[in-house]
Amino acid sequence: MNCLFCKIVTGEIPARKFYEDDQVVAFHDINPQAPVHFLVIPKKHIPTLNDLTEADKPLTGHILHTAQQLALEQGCAEGFRVVMNCNDLGGQTVHHIHMHVLGQRAMHWPPG
Ligand code: AMP
Ligand code: ZN
Repeated sequence: MNCLFCKIVTGEIPARKFYEDDQVVAFHDINPQAPVHFLVIPKKHIPTLNDLTEADKPLTGHILHTAQQLALEQGCAEGFRVVMNCNDLGGQTVHHIHMHVLGQRAMHWPPG
């Protein structure tokens, strides 16, 4: 499968990974939009949020919990933002679901 993030999971493409367990990998975004900007992705290839099934509920909970734990470890206890883009219209460019975690700068809403 020609998926960038699957290749990061396997190590075929290098990334600044800093956390991994049996279900997820976390690595720093190559084009950071904040002093802290990392991605938490499932090892399982799921193209978009539209492809989630009932069976993925524990995995998606684990992604969010991992994002929270790693945000604290990365010095974002004061506040951080999580973002998941779905499909082209939602701004998704890599079709393997991922949770962005952004921190250590003031976040505004709505985003630009
Ligand atoms: P999205 O637009 O939500 O699909 O986000 C994809 C994110 O992946 C963007 O923020 C990119 O900067 C990031 N990205 C793309 N290629 C890489 C890579 N090789 N290593 C780390 N992050 C990447
Ligand atoms: Zn993939």
